[in-house]
Parts: sequence; structure tokens; C-alpha cells
Amino acid sequence: MTKENKKIRVRFAPSPTGFLTTGGARTALFNYLFARHHNGKMILRIEDTDRVRSTPEATRMVLDSLKWLGLDWDEGPFYQSRRLDIYKKYAQKLLDEGKAFYEEDPAKGKAVVFRIKENTKIVFKDLIHGNISFDSDNIGRDGYVVLMKSDGFPTYNFACAIDDSEMGITHVIRGDDHISNTPKQVALYEALGKPVPLFAHIPLILGQDGSKLSKRHGHNYVMEYKDQGFLAESVFNFLSLLGWAPGDDTELMSPDEIVRRFTMERVSHTPAKFDFAKLTWMNNQYLKKMEPADLFALAKPFFEKAGYDLKSVPEKELMKLMELYRERAKTLSELTEATGFFFTPELNYDQKSVEKFLKKDGSKEILSAVRDGLKNMSDLNQETLEGFLRDLTKQKNLKFKDVAQPIRVALTGTCVSPGIFETIELVGKEKAITRIEEAIKLISNSK
Ligand code: GLU
Repeated sequence: MTKENKKIRVRFAPSPTGFLTTGGARTALFNYLFARHHNGKMILRIEDTDRVRSTPEATRMVLDSLKWLGLDWDEGPFYQSRRLDIYKKYAQKLLDEGKAFYEEDPAKGKAVVFRIKENTKIVFKDLIHGNISFDSDNIGRDGYVVLMKSDGFPTYNFACAIDDSEMGITHVIRGDDHISNTPKQVALYEALGKPVPLFAHIPLILGQDGSKLSKRHGHNYVMEYKDQGFLAESVFNFLSLLGWAPGDDTELMSPDEIVRRFTMERVSHTPAKFDFAKLTWMNNQYLKKMEPADLFALAKPFFEKAGYDLKSVPEKELMKLMELYRERAKTLSELTEATGFFFTPELNYDQKSVEKFLKKDGSKEILSAVRDGLKNMSDLNQETLEGFLRDLTKQKNLKFKDVAQPIRVALTGTCVSPGIFETIELVGKEKAITRIEEAIKLISNSK
């Protein structure tokens, strides 16, 4: 690491007006990755100068989302609403130097306005897009930029430029929807005689339909991922690949590996496409690798919310359940849904499975035979079960799945579950017999 790298300082500067969005989280992540890769500092700044739209709840939710993702910061959070004196001081300086002036609005009061130099080019360096140049006459309102609003609060552009400068920010990494703001901020640094940072404007995230990712696409907020049962680690991994690639085909990477491999040169300058199927796939890859105990710890709040009675289940059985289902579930919600049969006394039958496998000719006879067989088994182990079910299959001249599917539906309410022997063992002898009897009743009643 060079000396220069040690001085890298970046910031994430959310406006607390709602939940942290996917785009916001990706911006936070790229700042975090850049800071950690270069052993620099990450600063968190809450841009709460919009007095109407900013709320303390939104701030809390943004912080919670960052923490959930594992994006920690070194300094802050700093709140712009508590730094008004600083902005006032600089506004006064620009007023004193004749670079800014008051503008009277009879209805609202006095604002401070800055005049951008006429007829010049404002150029700044962008690590992703190269040099970007603007004509000063096309910036702001005919070359004017409001610094302080009549309510005594700074505008975004003013507070942002002052803070980036005061906080010693070396690299401003943000969404490229801010490109048009940058020349105003650069003009302010220049007017104040402050060094201009480097910029990295990261490209937009688009939904599958090619339009900017928004609420309408349904994957707009970080907390939605959490609530749907995505793991923080897989969301971290997934977001890192929205606009960045490690340079080979690697997709599954731990946070440490991503930090190690992250460079701004590999950030794309074209929009990234949000692929929900990929996130789901990725989450399953992470779930699969989890230790049963760790998986259970994460699934527990989901199980509790679903009302599952966890206390009555022995630890060993819970671990077995996690082991069997981690392969199959794509999210913790799916895991919860798929394991409901194990926790709830009443089965929630999937109607299609009932029609297809329980109401099929011969199912009742198969289930009766299985019930009797189970009753005769003193010890329910996989070997005995397998021997018994294979014999039954042969005896009835059927295929194995014709025997397994009605049992599966009777025990779990659905036609998807782990291996049938494991499923029977998991449900246990008594409960399996009761459920098979219930299924037989269901078949008889429907005829
Ligand atoms: N508060 C701005 C936003 O949330 C920050 C933009 C910036 O990073 O400068 O869009």
C-alpha cells in the first residue's frame, strides 16, 4: 500500500426520506469497497436538509439497512441539520467576497445565491466516465445556483460541496444521476479556493424491462430482501456485481474477497441490469453452505413469525430439518413455508398435489398398507423403511414414485420434500400414522 492510498476518504451521503433503496445500497457498498480495498476511511453523512421530507425514522431505517448488510463506517454519522453554522459561515464568506448575493422573495424571504462565472468550461475528472466538461452558462438557473434557502437551510449542492471539502473527501462516489450537479459543486470548490476531489459516477440500475429500477419493479428496498429471507451476505455479493465484475467469471465471493478484488477500473460505465432470478440463485448457494445451527439462528425469527412452536421440538430434529431443507429453499421465507408441515398440527394441503396424488386410483390402498406397515415397525429407520416401501412397490406392481408421492402429500401436504424415507423419519412414527389416517379420510370423503 502506498502512502497516498492511506489518505483515501470517501463518504456515503443518503437523504433520509425513506427506505434505503437498492441503488442507494449499491452506492454505499461501492464506497465501502473502495475505502476498504485502499485501507481508507468511510464517512457516513446524513443529508437531512430537506426539512419536509427528512425524518428520524428514515434515518434509523437507513442505518439499520447498512448495518444489516455489514457496511460499517469509520466516521459519523454526521447530520447536516446540525452543521448549519458551517454553511452560514461559508455563505457569508462568498457574500463578503462578492461571489454570492441575496435574493429577495417577497413571499418566502431572503435566499443566498451564487453566480457561476460566465463563459467558462467546468471540467472534472471522473474515474468511470473520464473527463466531463460543462459550459458554465448551461449550469443552474441561467448560471445561478441557490446556496442558502430562505428557511435558513443550505441547498443540497452547497451543503454537499462544503462538507466534502471540510471532511477531506478525496473521492466522491455516487450515482450518475448526480452528474449534472457536479459542475455546480466544482464551481463552488473553485470559488472557495478548495481542492476539487475526484469523482466516480456509477451507472444506474435498470429493471428487467430496461427502465430505471423503482418501486414498481418490486425489489427497490434493502429491507425487502431481509424480510423476504435473503441473506445479507448474498445480497452483498449480488449488489457488488451490479456494475462491477472481478474480471473473470467468479460470481460467488465472500465480502473479504470482494474487498480484495474491487477496483474502480472494473466498474462499468453502462447501466447494470437487476436480475432477481440471479439473486435467488445466489441466495440458495449461500443457504446450502450454511451450518444447520447458523441457518436455524437466521430462520428462527421467520419461524416465530409464522407461529411455529419451536420449544417442543428437540434440537437434534431441528438440525436434521435444517440439513435436509437448506439445499431446497431459496430464501428463509421459502424454508419457513416448506417446513410448516413439521411444526404445525394441521396440515396445509396443496390442492394440486391432493388432486394429483391423493385422489388417484389406488392411493387409498397404498396409504392403508403404509399405515399398517408403520404400525408394525418398532424402530423407524431408513433401512427398514426402504425395505418395506420397496417390497410394497413390487407387490403392487408399481413404480416407486407412485408409492412415494401419496405418502409425501399425506405427510407434508405437498409433493416436494426431501427423500421419502427421511421425510417419514422426520415426521416420526406417531404423527406419520395420524397424518396418513387423515389423508385416507380426506380421500374417502371426497368420493
Ligand atoms: N443526498 C444525496 C442523495 O441521496 C447524496 C448525493 C451525493 O452523494 O452527493 O442522492
